[in-house]
Amino acid sequence: MRQLGMVIDLNKCIGCQTCTLACKTQWTDRGGREFMYWNHVETRPGLGYPRDWEKAGGGWEGDRLKPGRLPRLAEDYGVPAEFNHGALFEPGGAPLRPLEAMQWGPNWQEDQGAGEFPNSHFFYLPRLCNHCTKPACLAACPRQAIYKREQDGIVLIDQERCRGYRYCVAACPYKKIYFNPLAGRSEKCIFCYPRVENGLPQACAYQCVGRARHVAYLDDTGGAVHRLVNEWKVALPLHPEHGTQPNVYYVPPLSPSTFDAAGKPTGQPRIPDEYLEELFGPAVHAALATLKQEIARKGKGEPSALMDLLIAFRHGDMFRLNPPREES
Ligand code: SF4
Ligand code: SF4
Repeated sequence: MRQLGMVIDLNKCIGCQTCTLACKTQWTDRGGREFMYWNHVETRPGLGYPRDWEKAGGGWEGDRLKPGRLPRLAEDYGVPAEFNHGALFEPGGAPLRPLEAMQWGPNWQEDQGAGEFPNSHFFYLPRLCNHCTKPACLAACPRQAIYKREQDGIVLIDQERCRGYRYCVAACPYKKIYFNPLAGRSEKCIFCYPRVENGLPQACAYQCVGRARHVAYLDDTGGAVHRLVNEWKVALPLHPEHGTQPNVYYVPPLSPSTFDAAGKPTGQPRIPDEYLEELFGPAVHAALATLKQEIARKGKGEPSALMDLLIAFRHGDMFRLNPPREES
């Protein structure tokens, strides 16, 4: 009946991982969840977490599920490493390091990015379950253990019904379901539904240092999500080609000009538009044009409702959890 959505402004995300820890400490700090990050922030361009998830398949081809593969524990997530904590208490203080060589992990490519100096570039991409309108995970589950709530569109896994077959993990093109080997069940972001039911935004959004996350129902015409997604059309789903119809949206990142061999600015953005199109689809060009146009207006001292919305002068205005369906 209703769909709660989130918009993350990539121009404001500073990669601090406060959202990651807000989620981790609240929901996944117990056994079998060491490698689980229901919310994490990866550096782009890069392979992300789990490693190279964009090539792991899943999602829809029309009305048919596309095959996907399961991420591997060591190679793609990185086995949770043991560290030499004891050495820290010895005289001389050995540096903290893992006891075994690791192959991958969350944040493995932090701040690495792409390009050569002086045209090197990167940006941060926070990721969580998109609480999709057409969830591939739900369709793939032979136990009907995954369901989408009518009141807010949050996608949940019934832990009583789940048998840990992991079809959902393979089917999710975002690889945002994790298998808990201790519980023998699959687990995922619950969009902080106990908080939502009490009129509070998700912990990742509420704690966001960069004030990058807006939360509201899609049909709330006065809410930031509807205005950014449907009116201004500057907030876009990640990899829309997978057909799951995500309800987490991103304001794409702008970037400064590249320099030519003589050190002169070329006017071309450092983050190539083609790369952003790979992530957010062809609509990204119009979104970037709108953002630039409104920034220019603000720069000239003219009013811009879009910039005011994105700046978010008042923290409370970023979240509308108990709104009317339609503004009168
Ligand atoms: S992002 Fe993946 S896990 Fe979340 S609802 Fe969509 S298909 Fe399911
Ligand atoms: S807390 Fe906000 S600014 Fe920090 S990494 Fe998360 S989304 Fe980005």
